[in-house]
Amino acid sequence: MDEMMLKMPVFFIGHGSPENALLDNAYTRTLENIGKTLTPKAILVISGHWLTNGTYVNTAEKPETIYDFYGFPEKMYKIKYPAPGAKSYAEELIRLLPDIKADDMHGLDHGTWTVLLHMFPKAVIPVFQMSIDYDKPMKYHYGLARKLKFLRDKGVLIIASGNIVHNLQMYFGKKDNSPYDWAIKFDEWVKEKLTKKDHESLIDYQKAGKSAELSVPEPSHYIPLIYALGATDKDEKITFIYEEVTSSMSMMSFRIG
Ligand code: ZN
Repeated sequence: MDEMMLKMPVFFIGHGSPENALLDNAYTRTLENIGKTLTPKAILVISGHWLTNGTYVNTAEKPETIYDFYGFPEKMYKIKYPAPGAKSYAEELIRLLPDIKADDMHGLDHGTWTVLLHMFPKAVIPVFQMSIDYDKPMKYHYGLARKLKFLRDKGVLIIASGNIVHNLQMYFGKKDNSPYDWAIKFDEWVKEKLTKKDHESLIDYQKAGKSAELSVPEPSHYIPLIYALGATDKDEKITFIYEEVTSSMSMMSFRIG
């Protein structure tokens, strides 16, 4: 078999509200349709909901589904995503990259399972997460992501799960769901830079000014975007698979490779 056939793309998925797990709409159907076209050997997720001091990978044999949110309907806390862990891939990363440490406690957070539930509903493909070292600058994340590229040749699908515009405080301050002007502005700015493969500007996103400041009040959901860029090459094709801005949340999602 042609070795290149194995090479997996990288996705950045806007995950939004945990309740997307329960919905059936254009967004969830987009995820479903993509999942049907892919048969990865394992899935590595970098989610904006696992923030640590240092970088960890999940080595659990059977990672728990974790409910890292409050005040949602009862049935949200009963959903399980029982995928096996991907211990051998996690341990390989630890061997190759000494800065990365093992963790078997974290489980799968909602930035991971609310997306995978739609993409791979059978939950049979091994999954592991890598945490985000929250004290580190964007350049560190980009550099670390470049060292993950080899996984794609081994059939590992890398999914970065965050949101390009993510301002929860402003979200609930709005009577309707129409997007804020600054949210549209930043979303479009990011799309333009992505299309031009201008990784440097995306790493230095704060230079985009006020719209960046309002769209990224803290970087937990933007950092996954940097991982998606770092794990790809500039000559790879980018495809925008879903675009929607409501209030102060962008669901823009894309595929590279
Ligand atoms: Zn989130």
